[in-house]
Amino acid sequence: MDIKNCIFCKIIAKEIPSDIILENDDILVIKDLHPKAPIHYLIIPKKHIVNIKELHDADLLNAAQIMIAARELSRKLSGDGSFRLIMNNGADSGQSVFHMHCHFLSGKKMLDF
Ligand code: 5GP
Ligand code: ZN
Repeated sequence: MDIKNCIFCKIIAKEIPSDIILENDDILVIKDLHPKAPIHYLIIPKKHIVNIKELHDADLLNAAQIMIAARELSRKLSGDGSFRLIMNNGADSGQSVFHMHCHFLSGKKMLDF
């Protein structure tokens, strides 16, 4: 998937609507269209990076912003603030959108792995 046809680039450009949870210059957080938990957000760096396999050293700040966003999101959680982060890298891992993103899951017990 090249950058022109990337669904997350279109969501970032507001060409496709989404439920936005948090946005800054570097990151967009939206609700996943097909939630796997009561809280299922996608933390998406605005820069089009395919996945961690394609991450350049110069993109490290974009990657780190994912964790900063997760920290901000966790502060709004009830209970003990537990959450799980998942990043799929490559088709065999389950990646279906080839624009780097991190799943933020919370709101239920996730003791399986
Ligand atoms: P992946 O499978 O690549 O790790 O995760 C892609 C995620 O994007 C999936 O959980 C899927 O439900 C979500 N998704 C795909 N298309 C859209 C969309 O148009 N809007 C939103 N909000 N989520 C989407
Ligand atoms: Zn993209």
